[in-house]
Amino acid sequence: MKLVFVNIMHNLYSLETASHISQPPVPLAVLAGVTPSAIETALLDEQTDEIRFNGDVFAFTVTTQFARQVYRYADALRADGKQVILGGIHVTLRPEEAMRHADAVVTGEAEVVWPTVCMDLLTGRLKDRYAGSPTPSAKMAPIDYRFFAGRRYLQPASIFATRGCIYRCSFCVSSRYHGPFRTKPLDVFEQEVDQLEDLYPEAFLQFTDDCLLGNRSYASELLALLRRKKRTSAVMVTLDQLCDDALMQELADSGCLGVAVGIESINDDNCLTVGKHQNVGRAIPEAVRRANELGMHVAALLIVGLPHDTPERIARTQRYLAEIPFALYDLRILRHYPGSPLYDEMLSRGDVTDTWWMEDDHLATNGLLPGHLRVHFRHGHFSSMQLQQSTLTAMRDLNRMHPEAVACAQRVGRRANAPGFAAMGLFVRAQFEKHARTWLAQVEQAMAAAPAKR
Ligand code: SF4
Repeated sequence: MKLVFVNIMHNLYSLETASHISQPPVPLAVLAGVTPSAIETALLDEQTDEIRFNGDVFAFTVTTQFARQVYRYADALRADGKQVILGGIHVTLRPEEAMRHADAVVTGEAEVVWPTVCMDLLTGRLKDRYAGSPTPSAKMAPIDYRFFAGRRYLQPASIFATRGCIYRCSFCVSSRYHGPFRTKPLDVFEQEVDQLEDLYPEAFLQFTDDCLLGNRSYASELLALLRRKKRTSAVMVTLDQLCDDALMQELADSGCLGVAVGIESINDDNCLTVGKHQNVGRAIPEAVRRANELGMHVAALLIVGLPHDTPERIARTQRYLAEIPFALYDLRILRHYPGSPLYDEMLSRGDVTDTWWMEDDHLATNGLLPGHLRVHFRHGHFSSMQLQQSTLTAMRDLNRMHPEAVACAQRVGRRANAPGFAAMGLFVRAQFEKHARTWLAQVEQAMAAAPAKR
């Protein structure tokens, strides 16, 4: 029996994603690692492979934005007599919907229950539904990165040391999917770092953790280990962590070259509305400057379309952010994911349709832009096009090349002899600016052509 793990995500943001972001789907290697040897395993990754289905059973990991595409593949495969198993965040949050397109679904983290699923496959007794559970730390085994052999990812040394998050922002489904925050045993983590050193000696470690530094004492031990190993890295941090000078010093000392931080909004009322309490009252400019002085660049992750946003506020936000030396500004229009409290709230107010991810033309959508810049909900202060226009204007102007951004990239490059890493940051910034400019022209053209739809 040949089981193929499938990752569908190529056009993630329609930002020519593959040109600057591609990393192995590591969670699928975790499942491959607990698949009994009686089953042959393979990977089909849309980031690197041409989509050709060659196997008996296909296991897809499903995120909301690609659910529709996965269901299409799944339906065709089943019509062709193949078996399909669906799992991942979207399946966990919408199991009944997924079951209509699968022979079996797995909800929650699948690692612990996966051997049972495989035994049922082998004995021809596959059940409709399996309930996964948060993998306990003691059961986390080292990932075998040879699963990705032969594929060329731009960030091949993708790794995680924790699962879950210590916070519960109301728009976030990742933290709800993973459940309680857990840490990987450090000896297991160390084996993965060593393996990546052998396989990709030049690559920096790209951490995919939602909250790598969520446990202070574990974070200190992990960062000390990285320092000993002399590996460079890029990490996601929360804003409160970015404001913790001692923690940032340890992070920089560990070899971290860049952090991405979930700013979301500079307005405290927005942060409070979506339960992002850890961001309230933070001195963002000082924290970013300090990180830069330590030799780390900082990428700002921002959401436009939060409940208290207005066109004037977005313009003010843009002026405020322009004074802060971020390496790049990644702006996304708010998405309401099923399973999040924010989605339930919007649904009860009639501001979002209950299956927007399955529709061609979502409620209040002008259909212009794909991915994270598309609008699928009604906002009290913006039409869809205005929201796109505000977002793209800010994205274009903030990402214009700035001497301070270049100087920071040079500092980062010199510090760890990592000119490639520094150049990548500047390249992505330039890409953001270029795409925002192109798309803004499209939106403004459409607004001029159809003023009534604004
Ligand atoms: S801090 Fe990030 S990962 Fe954690 S709940 Fe908030 S959005 Fe989700």
